[in-house]
Amino acid sequence: MTLKKYREKRNFKETPEPKAKIVRGKRKPLEFVIQKHAASHLHYDFRLEAEGVLKSWAIPKGPSLDPEIKRLAMMVEDHPIEYRHFEGIIPRGYGAGTVMIWDKGTYSVRGLPRKESEEFILEGLKKGKIHFTLEGEKLRGEFALVRIARGAGNQWLFFKIDDEEASKKDITKKDRSVVSGKSLMQIAKETR
Ligand code: MN
Repeated sequence: MTLKKYREKRNFKETPEPKAKIVRGKRKPLEFVIQKHAASHLHYDFRLEAEGVLKSWAIPKGPSLDPEIKRLAMMVEDHPIEYRHFEGIIPRGYGAGTVMIWDKGTYSVRGLPRKESEEFILEGLKKGKIHFTLEGEKLRGEFALVRIARGAGNQWLFFKIDDEEASKKDITKKDRSVVSGKSLMQIAKETR
C-alpha cells in the first residue's frame, strides 16, 4: 500500500487535489465515495477506504442497481483518504476536468465492524473478489467487484448483488452532488 503513484502523477503546485498522505484512522465505520469525473472521458471513480488509503476503480459507465448489468471497472492508483472530500476542478495535467462527489457513505462486509470488514477487503483484493454493503445516499445494499484481468489493464467488474435495494431504474440519472447539490456544469462554472 502506497501513494507513490498518486504523488508521481500530480504536480501539487498545479492541482488543488489533496496531498499524498496515508491516514490510518480509527474513524469508524469504513467510508466510500464515488466521484463523477468529467476528464478527457467521463467516468465514475469508485473508492473504498482500506489500509489508510482509498482503493480506487474508474468505472466508465458508472454503477448500476440492476444485478444483471456488470460494469467494467479499471483499478487505478490508491488515493489519499482526504480525497473523499474533493469536489472541484483539476485545472491541468493528470485527470484535468471537473470532479463531483456523486455519492458517499459507509461500507462494511457482512455487517462486521471496521477491523473485520477491512481484513475481508484486503484478503479479497488479493484474491480478486470483494463483497461489501454500501450505505450511501444513492447506492445501498450489497455490491461486488470481481477481477477479470491483471496487469496494465487491471480490469474488474462492478455489479449489484440481488437484494431489496436492487432496481432496474438508472441511478446515474440522479446526477447532482450529494454534498453541494450542484451539477457538473455548476461546479465547473462556480469553482473558479
Ligand atoms: Mn478519475
